[in-house]
Amino acid sequence: MAPAPASAAPEVDCTQVKCLALTFDDGPGKYADKLLDTLKKYNAKATFFLEGQYVKSRPAFAKRMAKEGHELGNHSYKHPNFTTLEPGAIRSEIKKTQDIVYKTTGVTPKLLRPPYGMADIQVSDIAAEFGMPMILWTAGSRDWATKNETEIKKQTLAVAKQDGIILMHDWVKQTVDSMPSIIKTLQGKGYTLVSVSTLLKNQNLQPGDIYPVPEGWEK
Ligand SMILES: [Zn+2]
Repeated sequence: MAPAPASAAPEVDCTQVKCLALTFDDGPGKYADKLLDTLKKYNAKATFFLEGQYVKSRPAFAKRMAKEGHELGNHSYKHPNFTTLEPGAIRSEIKKTQDIVYKTTGVTPKLLRPPYGMADIQVSDIAAEFGMPMILWTAGSRDWATKNETEIKKQTLAVAKQDGIILMHDWVKQTVDSMPSIIKTLQGKGYTLVSVSTLLKNQNLQPGDIYPVPEGWEK
């Protein structure tokens, strides 16, 4: 077996440590650079569910996310509600984003987060065609609604739990500004901040699966 590259850090085992996944949607947002500085400083990993249109307009941020070991997920090209689209349009949104992320970073996203978390059986079937499970969140930070540093921190800490997946946005300035304090506090409570794939490694998710499974979801 070939030795692992010297730069590869051993992967965190979330069955052994208290893990939490911070996820940032709709980016790369304008404040991604500052967020990446913070994540680097605290040695935290995150997952970015990217919109293809912004990977196109802010390629340097997407490249930096990949280079610094964060996970890149697919969040469509222009953020339509997939449950209102014809299959061909859903496929095109996903494919265009896979293509631009790969072209820009060399990474092929393995996870899909449908815009607004809106999915149905048709969306699930198309996600399966692309070999991707769909990842929602266990809780939101409500950052887009409050746009207030104190509120974002309060809400995030209130909903943080072991193996949780928290929804945030790197286009919200107050989220990025509050992140050093949030990360310091979470790490002080014993959390290791990991990517979604690291967090869900033992869930054995299959293409087209949805996690966490929403109430009333049937397949
Ligand atoms: Zn979104």
